[in-house]
Amino acid sequence: MRIAPVSGLPDSLDRDACAALDAGDPLAPMRGRFVLDEGLIYLDGNSLGALPAATPPRLARVVGEEWGRGLIGSWNDAGWIEAPRRLGDKVAGLIGADAGEVLVADSTSVNLFKLLAGAVRARPGRRVVLSHADNFPADLYVAQGLCELLDGGCELRTVAPAELAGALDADVAVLMVTHVDYATGAVQDMAALSAAARGCGALSLWDLSHSTAALPVDLGGCGADLAVGCGYKYLNGGPGAPAFLYVARRLQETIRSPLRGWMGHAEPFAFEPGHRHAPGVQGFLCGTPPILGMAALEAALDLWLEVDLDAVRAKSVRLGDLLIRLVDERCAGLGLTVASPREGARRGSQVALRHPDGYRVVRALIDRGVVGDFRSPDIVRLGLAPLYLRHVDVWEAVETLREVLATRAHDRPEYAVRAAVT
Ligand SMILES: *Cc1c(COP(=O)(O)O)cnc(C)c1O
Repeated sequence: MRIAPVSGLPDSLDRDACAALDAGDPLAPMRGRFVLDEGLIYLDGNSLGALPAATPPRLARVVGEEWGRGLIGSWNDAGWIEAPRRLGDKVAGLIGADAGEVLVADSTSVNLFKLLAGAVRARPGRRVVLSHADNFPADLYVAQGLCELLDGGCELRTVAPAELAGALDADVAVLMVTHVDYATGAVQDMAALSAAARGCGALSLWDLSHSTAALPVDLGGCGADLAVGCGYKYLNGGPGAPAFLYVARRLQETIRSPLRGWMGHAEPFAFEPGHRHAPGVQGFLCGTPPILGMAALEAALDLWLEVDLDAVRAKSVRLGDLLIRLVDERCAGLGLTVASPREGARRGSQVALRHPDGYRVVRALIDRGVVGDFRSPDIVRLGLAPLYLRHVDVWEAVETLREVLATRAHDRPEYAVRAAVT
């Protein structure tokens, strides 16, 4: 069967055709800005982004000079105290938010808790958190914990992703949606769902963990109310990097974080016994920011500020189309099915393939220098980070996948044992 050519891809695909796509790729020089072993094909930048070359010297400076010599004076002299807001403004440019609407702090889960609790309390008389049953489990856990804490004042309701809009009613306080599905990469319609939530009097809360720096996001244009997102995935902020939260300016004085620390106080150094919220997004800060983690994230954000996200999206869609077409053409009959949307516009920056032995297949690929990951029950997840991934890498990855499956290399007994972290 002949497969119709996808836009931007030539009719006939081989390694040379992929190399030609790289030669014409305006983002190709960005690969040199990352530390990557030659020969490694890294398809897990959606889980832990690669190390920007600018990060180690930046960290050395912050540790050696700002901390080592500047000591406590660096809170002011090196701008540490403003870091949550300053980095927030840099993230804002990537997600369609305005300066002063984004704060970098804490982890995604903690930020989700802060905003979810604030949203439920801002909609008295409504007690339902509506989400999709296939949401990233941690997000559901956070909602479950809040419901338990509010002891009947809050209830988590989950439906299939396609049924979210229809499940909105007068009981829903907040609609909590992950924009790009962590497993399949399917993209939710942010504008339509935000409008539907607003139409029924609920707030919308978006998890942008797999969206930020993977595709252009327009929180403001979509009328989204609240959002959280991750610093260590496509943003390349480093393992456990601080996360971010977004509160639309129109809501900043009505929604309150339940986690009150001195850094979110209107006058932290007044040391008053009672809490008064700092104005604006600053009021969502809790405790002292982790400056070393913030420094690594800021080095990555400064790299992102140089990048045209539309070019990133165009390459990401092309890499995904290429991967899917190569799987169709070269891995037919080997037990793979494509779990991601085939239409680029509906897919984030990853391709998920189902295989009954998915876990073993991922282990065999990693042994051959192709690093993807496995998501239960049967998904081989291949992340496509366009700043450092080449079209020839996709070619090599699919050839390696074909070789593994065709020779049943994944049947080796050691691949059956589950590692703790994959
Ligand atoms: C990665 C991810 C998180 C991560 O949360 P942590 O607090 O960093 O563990 C949360 N939500 C989604 C949807 C994610 O993909």
